[in-house]
Amino acid sequence: MVNKIEHIGIAVKNIDDANILFEKLLGVSSYKSEAVESEGVVTSFFQTGANKIELLMATNPESPIAKFLEKKGEGIHHIAFDVDDIVVEIERLKKEGFLLINEVPKKGADNKLVAFLHPKNTNGVLVELCQEIK
Ligand code: ZN
Repeated sequence: MVNKIEHIGIAVKNIDDANILFEKLLGVSSYKSEAVESEGVVTSFFQTGANKIELLMATNPESPIAKFLEKKGEGIHHIAFDVDDIVVEIERLKKEGFLLINEVPKKGADNKLVAFLHPKNTNGVLVELCQEIK
């Protein structure tokens, strides 16, 4: 079951500058900054009510975020949905004909198991499924 929007991921060129901007915008400080080496990113999380904002900056030119910035510039990169059981959701979505970038969930930022759907058949939106690791 898809529960709610867990967070919205925003690609930024400079995470220090973006942290200052989002602190002003949201009136709260980032509660966590975390590097995800497998993705070549540094992340920063803001709590906004029930949902979160995740800022993402590339740490190397091969990072998916570096490629996104090159193609599209800064902006909304993905929408993440909270799910109870990511393996069950992956199977369900595969049966529905969605293309998964990750057929096996992997460890993401913020203590989550994550899997991405290909934007090709989600109206151009990169969708992340995430399940809290308990
Ligand atoms: Zn995310």
